[in-house]
Amino acid sequence: MSIDHARNADQLPTPTLEEVSPGIYAYVQLDGSWGLNNAGFIRGQDGVTVVDTCFTEARTRAFLKAIAGVTSLPARTLINTHHHGDHTHGNYLVSGAAIVGHELCRQTVISTGLQALHPLFPGVEWGDLELAPPTITFKDRLDLYSGDAGDLKIELIFMGPAHTTNDIVAWLPERKLLFSGDLIFNQGTPFVAMGSVSGSLEAVTRLRELGAETIVPGHGSVCGPAVMDDIEAYLTFVQTTAKSAFDAGLGPLDAAREADLGRFAPWHDSERLAGNLHRAYSELRGEPLGTDLDLGAIAADMVTINGGQPVRCLA
Ligand SMILES: [Zn+2]
Repeated sequence: MSIDHARNADQLPTPTLEEVSPGIYAYVQLDGSWGLNNAGFIRGQDGVTVVDTCFTEARTRAFLKAIAGVTSLPARTLINTHHHGDHTHGNYLVSGAAIVGHELCRQTVISTGLQALHPLFPGVEWGDLELAPPTITFKDRLDLYSGDAGDLKIELIFMGPAHTTNDIVAWLPERKLLFSGDLIFNQGTPFVAMGSVSGSLEAVTRLRELGAETIVPGHGSVCGPAVMDDIEAYLTFVQTTAKSAFDAGLGPLDAAREADLGRFAPWHDSERLAGNLHRAYSELRGEPLGTDLDLGAIAADMVTINGGQPVRCLA
């Protein structure tokens, strides 16, 4: 695999705003690779409900400008789907909003801080970031109401441990619309090293039961439920690969080196396989789902699989 890590972010498509249902918008940053997340918002009667922010100050400011192009109403509520910086770094710019997330999201935003992941992403122009964790937390479920008539139900449902320990989705049953956070990557490699492989598979089963027709994934284009088949197939591949390599006495890095990605090879960020195998190994050792792993070792193995180059982050 050869990756050109030149900072050619200008070659990326401009982020787009898509009205996925009346008054509900997806903010899509392609190509959805490391740090290029999706966000969104729901227009309400007297304020806006925002779903996630972006990795850098500049990207979040561009997102907020896109919201202002649709409505002059203030953002009153900000939902964080999980703690990762590409979904939370810009929280502090949504001034005055109540920030809602899982209780472990708040904890992990605070314990991770703003710098922890940066060595994996050299060269990103972060701007003047300030830490702003969720201010309202919950454990299993919280319902919010918004929409033009003020009665549109937004169900926040805990789905972790899956992509991380603290994933929630925003499900709008009346619109059959799902903001999935990073439980779903569309045309990108799922990344579960900080969560759980088996938990992610269980989350896919639960997501299917919701019956979404439209999905705003955490990364990649807006899609339908068929994407879940791909996610499930990949996670099963990770488990199968891990089991045979584990039984053969190989470590996660060698398992990743020897694996044949097959139909998953075209997805971006394929080096995530190394991290995903670390997590699968933890589960094969019988450790609790979502247990803390050595993220430095995981990052190093992903860089090795990536030909010794930093991962492709154009944020
Ligand atoms: Zn994430």
